[in-house]
Amino acid sequence: MENLEYKIIVGLEIHVQLLTKSKMFCSCAISFGERANSRVCPVCVGMPGSLPVMNKKAVELSALAGMALNCKIAKFTKWDRKSYYYPDLPKNYQISQYDLPLAAAGFIEIPLENGQTKTIRITRAHLEEDAGKNLHTTGNFSQVDLNRAGTPLLEIVTEPDLSSAAEVRSLAVELQRIVRYLGVSEADMQKGHMRFEPNVNLHITKDGKEYKTPIAEIKNLNSFRAIERSVDYEVQRQLDEFSRTGITMETGNKTTRGWDDDAGKTVLQREKEEANDYRYFPDPDLVPVEFTDSWLAEIRAGLCEMPIKRQLRFVNEYDLSDYDAGVLTAERTTADFFEEAVKSGGQSKRVCNLLTQVGLKMANEANCSAAELGITAENLAKLAKMADGGQISATAAKTIMEKMTQTADEPKVIAEQLNLIQKNDTAELEVIVEKILAENAKAVEDVKSGGKKSKAAKGFLLGQVMQKTKGRANPKVVAEILERKL
Ligand code: ZN
Ligand code: MN
Repeated sequence: MENLEYKIIVGLEIHVQLLTKSKMFCSCAISFGERANSRVCPVCVGMPGSLPVMNKKAVELSALAGMALNCKIAKFTKWDRKSYYYPDLPKNYQISQYDLPLAAAGFIEIPLENGQTKTIRITRAHLEEDAGKNLHTTGNFSQVDLNRAGTPLLEIVTEPDLSSAAEVRSLAVELQRIVRYLGVSEADMQKGHMRFEPNVNLHITKDGKEYKTPIAEIKNLNSFRAIERSVDYEVQRQLDEFSRTGITMETGNKTTRGWDDDAGKTVLQREKEEANDYRYFPDPDLVPVEFTDSWLAEIRAGLCEMPIKRQLRFVNEYDLSDYDAGVLTAERTTADFFEEAVKSGGQSKRVCNLLTQVGLKMANEANCSAAELGITAENLAKLAKMADGGQISATAAKTIMEKMTQTADEPKVIAEQLNLIQKNDTAELEVIVEKILAENAKAVEDVKSGGKKSKAAKGFLLGQVMQKTKGRANPKVVAEILERKL
């Protein structure tokens, strides 16, 4: 293939399932994995004569997300019917928002691999209802499950400001962090709470002229890995297709493609006609939504420090690496827990290490957050202080922290119970060191002779002291004594 100069252009369409108890326009409960068609009523199965009633919470969560995405929130917004036929859409239309979206003209900041951030413009965000699901599981027929029909979705559309698969992934991860921080969505990818549709094309420069390849929309991606892989694949496919055929936006149609995860390929689904005729018109059954200033202020009070800002602050304020700060701010509760422990007197790096190396691992195994392990921030701070003061070793701190999930005892009590308090008593350790030196004349000689063997011999002697004290001597103190005696 010829070596072409090109730019990757990606815009995203994202559907986020909102964290409400009930559906968008009826009181059916939202719950995942229930028996098919057990969470339905006349409204969400589209029975004639049934009337929708708007879910206020869904509107508030959408506005909150819009604010977090720096959007302008429309004072007046309405509901429109998007008409199309599909077996999982019994009304034959979806209630959505067409020309007056709830939120518009915002931006999101995403972290880049080089530690910088990039601003991606948000075109709009609007509220709509989800469709049901067509199941093709058994036999030579399909089944329809309407449990999901009517679930509130926030659709977010970005400008085509993304220029690599890694950036698309970064936006997805960042958006997940934001909606979770705000309690807007559980954002569980495996449950389909967030679905991504990248629109991908290339601007190719050839012989001083620029060519734009036809846009391909990749449908319904619900894992970060699939997002990154599918965009990477699509870039190569379009490059290859352009090299072979010279196809451009002018000569080819926009297409919709699916992602085959096993094959690692995007697959053509359909060529899109330019103007989809959904015959949008205002829903006569629903009143428009008008935000008063006081209602908006109430919603705005639900905002919090944005995760990317918090991550940056952790780096500066607590002297953490960007990586560690990212791990600690992945979940709001973990970040809160960390800050509480630091405020209780724990040294930030020590608390960070305990949380990232022990806490998060245990939390992962217990399928909860680090803050829910049953350890109080005060006790975590106390443990950090003991490790910092040399009363316990770093290894012992981990053992004690594991134990702390099972008991409310203070770390000091646990350390004593488990016999993990380090020997810092210089006089006592000196006696032991003397003894070890007397027993190991050869090693002492090696140290004194200097040269290659000296370092190994020193290590050996230190090891002997540690063994003698069953690992409870403070290695720093022992090393000092050894240095002095030799
Ligand atoms: Zn219902
Ligand atoms: Mn949509």
